[in-house]
Amino acid sequence: MHFEAGIEFAQALDHEDPLSRFREEFSIPAQPDGSQEIYLCGNSLGLQPRRARDYVNQELDKWATLGVKGHFDCEFPWMPYHEFLAESSANLVGAHSDEVVMMNSLTVNLHLMMVSFYRPSATRYKIVIEDHAFPSDHYAVESQLRHHGIDPEDGLLLLKPREGEELLRLEDITALIEEQGDSIALLLLPGVQYYTGQVLPMAELTELAHQHGISVGFDLAHAVGNIPLQLHTWNVDFACWCSYKYLNSGPGSVAGCFVHRRHAQNTQLPRFAGWWGHDKQSRFRMENRFQPIPTAEGWQLSNPPILSLAAIRASLDVFSEAGGMGPLRSKSEKLTAYLQFLLKSEVGEYISIITPEDLEQRGCQLSLSCNARHLSGRQLFQRLEEHGVTCDWREPNVIRVAPVPLYNRFADVYRFVEILKAACEE
Ligand SMILES: *Cc1c(COP(=O)(O)O)cnc(C)c1O
Repeated sequence: MHFEAGIEFAQALDHEDPLSRFREEFSIPAQPDGSQEIYLCGNSLGLQPRRARDYVNQELDKWATLGVKGHFDCEFPWMPYHEFLAESSANLVGAHSDEVVMMNSLTVNLHLMMVSFYRPSATRYKIVIEDHAFPSDHYAVESQLRHHGIDPEDGLLLLKPREGEELLRLEDITALIEEQGDSIALLLLPGVQYYTGQVLPMAELTELAHQHGISVGFDLAHAVGNIPLQLHTWNVDFACWCSYKYLNSGPGSVAGCFVHRRHAQNTQLPRFAGWWGHDKQSRFRMENRFQPIPTAEGWQLSNPPILSLAAIRASLDVFSEAGGMGPLRSKSEKLTAYLQFLLKSEVGEYISIITPEDLEQRGCQLSLSCNARHLSGRQLFQRLEEHGVTCDWREPNVIRVAPVPLYNRFADVYRFVEILKAACEE
């Protein structure tokens, strides 16, 4: 990819961007002076699709005018509402629609999946996660181990980058699996590492783990809506994701879950059950003999929060109109490559990029480690905020920046680097 310095070049890229009109679909937060923020934080909380308000209002109106009848005879009845999200969610993760369900929250889904897919025996009982796993994932896994009477000191294997390095190496993961594979029950890794932005080779890892009889789950919080995924073809056992980061579905909105068809159809799999996972035809007979739906829906517990699902439906419709992950990823590759180009050429002496340069190993996000003249990383981050940039800060010394293809412009990236440069040179 060829890039040039100067705002005119950024504007030209925006001009020829086939997705540029989608920015209008979103509410962009404003600065105190009324101008739009430079919002580069879609990896933490995606912006609101304008139509989310209409979709949610539609459900509030149905509630007001129909009461309980909103479950049945109307547009988008609540009873099957989650089914309206299945196909478009499945498209985003490369799954069949019977393999995906939107339910609960991310950490809850991780627990539910471990109930089914972490079945320790006396000899095969260890779980592999990364040393720098998101705290919630770490707590979930530790508590699962303890729940089975296993001391995490013994049962938890932590993958660490090499001394002095930030990224995980496939050969190190391979070595661990080859050494200890017989004692490992579950490999639970992120699709995109939240701190470094590194994309892990999910297809290779799944194949390798399966060769050693290990189940494989992915936390896709930072991967879904960001990079192309092929969960079904990769033969992943399960995956979970939240919907409020790149999926733009609102703070704390309902999460996603993938269960591979070969497991979903196995109604004998142990699970924690609830009535919404029970066979739809006989659910209301209330007979108390649990018969799971032979799809990912069989893991549902409760009837879901419709207002949240409405916001998800709004967001998924925007993804579909944009043509799905193909066009979005094309723009994203270019947008982040442009960010990388400007960072290197404008602030290369103050900023190093932790995220891999290789396109296959990164999504939207670049994680920057800071070494400005007079400001600490934290102060640099504050300076960015003062100038209308929203990105995020992670201890000890990382600023995470994520230009997202649905609503960020090349000009946002340009302006961000301009502000960053001024702060670095202070
Ligand atoms: C954002 C994120 C979470 C958040 O979990 P919730 O259950 O949605 O609060 C968990 N794990 C990872 C890897 C995340 O990035």
